Amino acid sequence: MSNLSSLPEKATEMLEWSWSQLEPYYAELAGRDLSAANVETFLNDWTRFHDRLGEVGTRLAIAKDVNTADKEAEQRFNRFLEDIFPKSEEAEQKLKTRLLESGLKPAGFERPLRRMQADAAIFREANLPLQVEDAKLSTEYGKITGSQTVEWEGKEVTVTQLRPVLMETDRARREKAWRLAAERQLKDRDALNSLWQKFMKLRLQMATNAGFPDYRSFRWQEMHRFDYTPENCKQFQQAIEQAVVPAATRIYARRAKQLGLAALKPWDQDVDPLGRAPLAAPANVDQFKAGVHSILTGVDPQFGGYFQTMMSEGTLDLENRKNKAPGGYCATYDAVKLPFIFMNAVGLHGDVMTLVHESGHASHSFEARCLPWFQQRHAGLEFAEVASMGMELLAAPYFAKSAGGFYSDEDAGRALTENLQKDVLFWPYMAVVDRFQDWVYENPQAAMEPANCDRQWTALWHRLMPGVDWSGFEDVVATGWQRKLHIFTAPFYYVEYGLAQLGACQVWANALKDQAAAVAAYRKALALGGTKSLPELYAAAGAKFAFDSGTLGAVVTLIEEKLAPA
Ligand SMILES: [Zn+2]
Repeated sequence: MSNLSSLPEKATEMLEWSWSQLEPYYAELAGRDLSAANVETFLNDWTRFHDRLGEVGTRLAIAKDVNTADKEAEQRFNRFLEDIFPKSEEAEQKLKTRLLESGLKPAGFERPLRRMQADAAIFREANLPLQVEDAKLSTEYGKITGSQTVEWEGKEVTVTQLRPVLMETDRARREKAWRLAAERQLKDRDALNSLWQKFMKLRLQMATNAGFPDYRSFRWQEMHRFDYTPENCKQFQQAIEQAVVPAATRIYARRAKQLGLAALKPWDQDVDPLGRAPLAAPANVDQFKAGVHSILTGVDPQFGGYFQTMMSEGTLDLENRKNKAPGGYCATYDAVKLPFIFMNAVGLHGDVMTLVHESGHASHSFEARCLPWFQQRHAGLEFAEVASMGMELLAAPYFAKSAGGFYSDEDAGRALTENLQKDVLFWPYMAVVDRFQDWVYENPQAAMEPANCDRQWTALWHRLMPGVDWSGFEDVVATGWQRKLHIFTAPFYYVEYGLAQLGACQVWANALKDQAAAVAAYRKALALGGTKSLPELYAAAGAKFAFDSGTLGAVVTLIEEKLAPA
């Protein structure tokens, strides 16, 4: 009989474990008779085991990302994915069922129980193979879009790698790069259309299998959206149309004027409108770290302390180098309760924003680590992104050299301006994506036909995204939905960013009045992890979990005041 107390102290001692070594621990947990007297011990032990196994998975995933040429690391990770992960998921499901069937309701466990109940209610054996199929289609989407390359200055580059050219001041070069990318993407139009139809069939079938009248209501449960409804999201779309679209149009108009253009074309959206070179962060990674450490310390010495811990524990892998996976993220080593930030800094201002953003996630992880059970620690994305986007805005006053950062006062102001403009321009786009998906799953038969999707997207685009002249590029506009990864691979998962951004902006508004009080509330909310509802988490952070044009309009007015040219 295995005993949970025989578990190694460190997850690093379990990296090579096989399923047969892990299985007895699950069996022991699943075999316990649960009662009010022992349920907390059960949750403690489950957490002890889950944290170690979770950390194994995280360590193996990070190991393959820090060196993509390390074949052994790749094999170790794949072995974990194939041999361990599906079995551990199944075993976890058994433990969840066991707890649910016991009818016990441990204190502080209301939200996790609710998530478990939702999972159990929609679980259908028949959907498992469909989920595998769905994952394969997602991989296919990644393959199609990831292999979109063009020839640029004699070299083959991905369309993503062309993006920095769109920030250059040479307009002809921007137009050339933009057209090249757009033409290349259009070549996959048919392939993505047929992939879309496969996705749709699968998803409608999954909803039917689970006994739901439509895919959206199925997905709502699957995503644990207990605190808001599709109606709330529609209200938010309308609020954006009313309160944000006019402000976004003013930003585009000012940009056109500054650039001296009668009309903005698609390739004029990323360049600095005053013709300045892009903001640059310290290229030296140690200076970069020291600077961000100082910025975070400015926000709150505790956040600086967290970052210092990550520096001394070696859980910051920041610089771009050969054989490193692309992208950036924050993951947590659960057993040692230490976050890890992975990114590819090359000395751009965007890298500073990425690191500050990920440090918001890392601080969330530090603040919530005292919660005893792993199911309590994670807030939904609707709040997790308040932590990260909130940190971006709370950190803004400390970007200047005079306040501990590394920018001139002018550049620090420019950094905030760029961030606030990005926020205003994002909401209308988010509304297009969200409204489009409502239409898709309210009219699944029509949406099965890609030409109808093209028409729907085009209409929404012109309604919610005025300010840029797209004439002559009707096909590029019409296929915009094909370029939004989430529509294909994570349906309905997008409004979260818009909601969280509204939360983060409210935290920022509070900070403008009283920085110390705003930071204190923000920290308090982070420490709640996933133990409270979204309205409660937002309220703790000093914000309202809101969909209405009043709340949104107030924030947009404040942003526009800050953006007003001196
Ligand atoms: Zn994030």
